[in-house]
Amino acid sequence: MADKPIMKPWIEQIHAYVPGKSKAADGRPLAKLSANENPLGCSPDVLEALATGHGPHLYPDPDARELRQAIGAAHGIDPACIVCGTGSGELLHGAVQAFAGPGDEVVFPRFSFSLYPLLVHKVGADVVLAQDNDYAPDVDRILAAVTPRTRVVLVDNPNNPIGTWLPQDEIARLHAALPRDVLLVVDQAYAEYLEEGEDDGGFALAAAHDNVLVTRTFSKAFGIAGERVGWATGAPHLVDALNRLRGAFNVTESGQKAAMAALGDPEFVARSRDANNAVRARFVGQLEALGNHGLRALPSKANFVLVLFEGAVRAPQALDAIAEGGFAVRHLPGQGLPEALRITIGTQEQMDTIATILRGLCEAGA
Ligand SMILES: *Cc1c(COP(=O)(O)O)cnc(C)c1O
Repeated sequence: MADKPIMKPWIEQIHAYVPGKSKAADGRPLAKLSANENPLGCSPDVLEALATGHGPHLYPDPDARELRQAIGAAHGIDPACIVCGTGSGELLHGAVQAFAGPGDEVVFPRFSFSLYPLLVHKVGADVVLAQDNDYAPDVDRILAAVTPRTRVVLVDNPNNPIGTWLPQDEIARLHAALPRDVLLVVDQAYAEYLEEGEDDGGFALAAAHDNVLVTRTFSKAFGIAGERVGWATGAPHLVDALNRLRGAFNVTESGQKAAMAALGDPEFVARSRDANNAVRARFVGQLEALGNHGLRALPSKANFVLVLFEGAVRAPQALDAIAEGGFAVRHLPGQGLPEALRITIGTQEQMDTIATILRGLCEAGA
């Protein structure tokens, strides 16, 4: 007999999710540009809504009815086809858990949201990584990774940590080529940062087919990551599966209130998007000016940029210099990206400071 409880082998291989850092090695606080949070905070309406409420002694609405109605109204989706989660993370877990298990395969692009391998291992299924195309997700390579054992395909679009985006025709092509019993999950965590008119068609596919689930979050452009609210939409039997698996009171009272207030202020989201995209373009321009030193920003549609260090200045050295300057950014060697840093788009002042630090490093190394 073992002398202590023995963890299941498929749980043993899980590496706990590694959150973005906010402190230097010596404990000094750093400005956190490592978790893709909104530098503008959240809508003032959210703060106001959080000050009201029916009190912490009562359970929240277990079905988040009002919130689902508000989401449905905002997107033209039947609230019965919407399920809310403790962040979209809970719903991504549910999607994998409901449709994949031991012996099954879950396919996603080689560079994807770091949560994905964790939730596949959690259910004892096998991770199958689709090859990238210069780091970016590639539909033909995703399809090439699909086998008869594939049960779920996960695509974060825009992709985290790469930042690239597959347009509507590519997502449609991916869906059309997948067997009908394979679930396609389109994780649209960064969709609010797309320009007006840019749409990968996920909602339309989810409304028309039995095997497409789209997830969204309030954690990024809406700026309420701490409240942990996300949602998913898909065919009734997909929503039913997620409702069976989610926690009974999975979205807190304050989370439901905050999300409704956030939805009610689209102007804040538009302002967040416009500020992000302008600052991102300026920062990318500053990086392009360092191209002759081997710095390369991958094209981003999100609120971060993946910067490759392919010259004399290496990523760990840049990470240290940026931390020295007071900022935490993301180095992801554990995700197969030792030569890159993922930098969240902060304020223009913050990004100008980082660009200056990088230019200093390049010039010193040249
Ligand atoms: C941040 C992020 C999410 C959101 O997670 P929440 O649990 O909703 O906070 C989902 N998918 C991707 C790709 C992300 O980067």
